[in-house]
Amino acid sequence: MIDYTLTEEQKALQEMARDFALNEMRPVAAKYDQSHDFAFDVMKKAFDAGFLTSNIPEAYGGGGLSNLDLAIISEELAAGCAGLFTSMMACSLGTTPIVQFGTEEQKKKFLAPTCRRMTLGAYALTEREAGSDAGAVKTKAVKAGDHYIINGSKCFITNGGVAGLYTVFANTAPHKGARGVSAFIVERETPGISIGKVEDKMGQRASNTAEVYFEDVKIPAANLLGREGLGFIIAMRTFDTTRASVGAAALGIAKAALEYSVAYSKTRRTFGKAIALYQATQFKIAQMAMELQAARHLVWHAAWLSDQGLPNGKESAMAKCFASDIAMAAASEAIQIHGGYGYMRDYPVEKLLRDAKLLQIYEGTNEIQRLVIAHEVIGPVKD
Ligand SMILES: Cc1cc2nc3c(=O)[nH]c(=O)nc-3n(C[C@H](O)[C@H](O)[C@H](O)COP(=O)(O)OP(=O)(O)OC[C@H]3O[C@@H](n4cnc5c(N)ncnc54)[C@H](O)[C@@H]3O)c2cc1C
Repeated sequence: MIDYTLTEEQKALQEMARDFALNEMRPVAAKYDQSHDFAFDVMKKAFDAGFLTSNIPEAYGGGGLSNLDLAIISEELAAGCAGLFTSMMACSLGTTPIVQFGTEEQKKKFLAPTCRRMTLGAYALTEREAGSDAGAVKTKAVKAGDHYIINGSKCFITNGGVAGLYTVFANTAPHKGARGVSAFIVERETPGISIGKVEDKMGQRASNTAEVYFEDVKIPAANLLGREGLGFIIAMRTFDTTRASVGAAALGIAKAALEYSVAYSKTRRTFGKAIALYQATQFKIAQMAMELQAARHLVWHAAWLSDQGLPNGKESAMAKCFASDIAMAAASEAIQIHGGYGYMRDYPVEKLLRDAKLLQIYEGTNEIQRLVIAHEVIGPVKD
């Protein structure tokens, strides 16, 4: 049976996230976009409201939200500021591998303190020579008795410069390629970790994106997630779960683009009439509303499949890819509807376009999402 009715709890979560976005994020979005400073104050408020730990089970002090619940709140928060939201989402991206693959002991040791005291999370997979080809990571982890020694570097890591806890993907058997990748829990204060370049980005400038270096970083062997060689699967399973949230962030941008456009089109007058009365404007708005709704169905479906424990790799890829593509289109149309004013920093819509672009790139580019979808749709081919 299909039921799109939100429960009372989901409606309350949605409202709480919307209030937070409107009161705590939107008023400072332009400030952090321009200054490129990290918004510790907003993150602290988000932590206090439970948004940084909402994916962590209640047993460890988190919100215990389902993936569908997360999609509902992610849309609202990203509508407030996608840059701030990306730093919030990176916390759950960083802890999802522990939630999914951690032992009871690891969950008690690492998740519970994260819920008690704000500890930003990060997911450290990408390297200079291993982006789309994520299995090609060169960072090495060598076992030495009860420890692993990690050497290497990561780039483009969201929260890389501000996180307290990283999930790090490193190779324990380089000759095995992707099957030699393992996942580790690494605490920031471990000696040998340093932060490199903090990237100066086109959009989502409120999020911190940095290089992270590991030089003889000695961590307990007990920090290995799953077993040696399971890292690539952990990375991909994590994405199957979290890509719905990226799709939801895109919904937030598309929704903001639509709301700003509707409001502006009713007040801007040309040739003696509000531009909302011109069919050219109406068709743009109808298209934005239609695509937003279609994308929301994909995102909610992908999140729901994940909550049921059903295969959702293809659907999560579709949700992330389609939603981010329509968010780009919606942001572009919003600028068009605002005319010259839309191109200016004084209005909020040009930021939406810069922010939306990133959603087509991280957590796997949209080309990689299309590869995932095609691989599943086409199946094996005899050559
Ligand atoms: C702001 C920001 C934040 C990020 N945050 C994180 C993070 O928190 N953690 C993390 O680990 N990573 C993070 N990333 C990294 C991100 O996931 C990678 O940038 C992304 O996966 C693409 O890798 P790449 O940049 O190396 O591009 P490349 O892999 O070099 O790709 C370049 C182009 O080639 C295309 N391409 C590559 N291979 C194929 C193929 N087989 N078929 C068709 N087209 C292909 C790509 O789609 C792309 O258009 C972040 C990136 C950015 C920009």
